[in-house]
Amino acid sequence: MFDAIIVGGGVIGLSLAYELAGGGWRVRVVERGQPGREASWAGAGILPPAGRNPSTDAYHELARLSDELYPVWSAQLREQTGIDNGFRRCGGMYLARNDAAAAELHRSADEWRQRGVAAEPLDGRAAAEREPALRGDALRAAYWLPEEAQLRNPRHLKALAAGCALRGVEICAGISVEGFVVHQGRVREVITSAGAMQSAQVCATTGPWTKALLARLDVELAVHPVRGQMVLLSSPRPCLRSVINEGKRYLVPRPDGRVLVGSTEEEAGFDKRTTAEAIAGLLAFAVGLAPALGELSIEQCWAGLRPGTRDNLPYLGRLPGLENAFVAAGHFRGGLHLSPATAVVMARLMRGDSPGLDLTPFRVDRG
Ligand SMILES: Cc1cc2nc3c(=O)[nH]c(=O)nc-3n(C[C@H](O)[C@H](O)[C@H](O)COP(=O)(O)OP(=O)(O)OC[C@H]3O[C@@H](n4cnc5c(N)ncnc54)[C@H](O)[C@@H]3O)c2cc1C
Repeated sequence: MFDAIIVGGGVIGLSLAYELAGGGWRVRVVERGQPGREASWAGAGILPPAGRNPSTDAYHELARLSDELYPVWSAQLREQTGIDNGFRRCGGMYLARNDAAAAELHRSADEWRQRGVAAEPLDGRAAAEREPALRGDALRAAYWLPEEAQLRNPRHLKALAAGCALRGVEICAGISVEGFVVHQGRVREVITSAGAMQSAQVCATTGPWTKALLARLDVELAVHPVRGQMVLLSSPRPCLRSVINEGKRYLVPRPDGRVLVGSTEEEAGFDKRTTAEAIAGLLAFAVGLAPALGELSIEQCWAGLRPGTRDNLPYLGRLPGLENAFVAAGHFRGGLHLSPATAVVMARLMRGDSPGLDLTPFRVDRG
């Protein structure tokens, strides 16, 4: 008998399993594919700084906790597993190339200041000095955020899976959870493609598939897939240093010369195809900002499914009417960033402790 079964081995499920097992729990992760191959693999790994100032905004507090935990988890995983997840504060530049976008960016800068995020305004020349590959002449506004960080998420997932294994977590890959047996307000059995399993507690961390899974427990959850397409460019040497953000699109340079170009936000159901139009749009964005990127080779294109919700907030908590069943899903564009904090607060809840943060805005019955 396990203390907990975690359904879904993405970044949220693996982080939660790692945290629970670190506290001595016997944990099993049930993943229908290979762990960490869905959105958690497909993401860009941008970790925007939440800022130093405490606030009453629950999402912001979750992000602040993650900012504290990332350096600690990264060092700990590196020490335990020998895998470097590539966490580093490379800084981020935020750009606007028209007046409406510039006005929006100045509003974001006001918010950064209130939250204690270091943000330095740049003119076109200063932006191009910091990032010589950028076309500074086209800019209407720019800010430099020195504390922005990035993560090599595929490496982080490998480190988490290895860290879980070292802590005794059993990861069952290629097994799908298909239903539950409930008796007197408790999940008694988890029904899988490999038979029934028992555990004291269960948590669904199934990303955009959570709605279908929890329907089997008569719980309605508004999580839906939002497709994001990505292009990976490669170059023999680095041509950018920091993350470059413009609206919802970005360039993420890796130290090995690769540059990720993302992303789209599309309502395409569970269709993970890449499309000519979206990829052409991303390439035009990249080359328009930094013409030298036009010389790079296209290494790979892919799409992932973000777990979207109506209010862009995740669902974190106990399922209504069930003593021992929980959910942590719906992190939309921020699941990589929020994963360590999500793991810590969910583990506290599952142990019966206070989560330490106000989780009211994330409650399951909010619709
Ligand atoms: C293009 C793109 C760019 C992104 N960029 C960033 C970024 O820069 N920064 C950031 O913080 N976030 C980013 N994100 C968002 C982030 O990737 C997600 O929020 C996060 O990965 C969600 O993690 P998850 O574990 O909830 O879901 P997933 O990674 O989707 O994992 C869910 C797992 O559950 C499994 N599963 C589903 N149903 C079952 C079942 N019935 N039985 C067993 N297993 C099941 C699935 O196979 C899957 O492995 C990005 C996402 C995309 C797509």
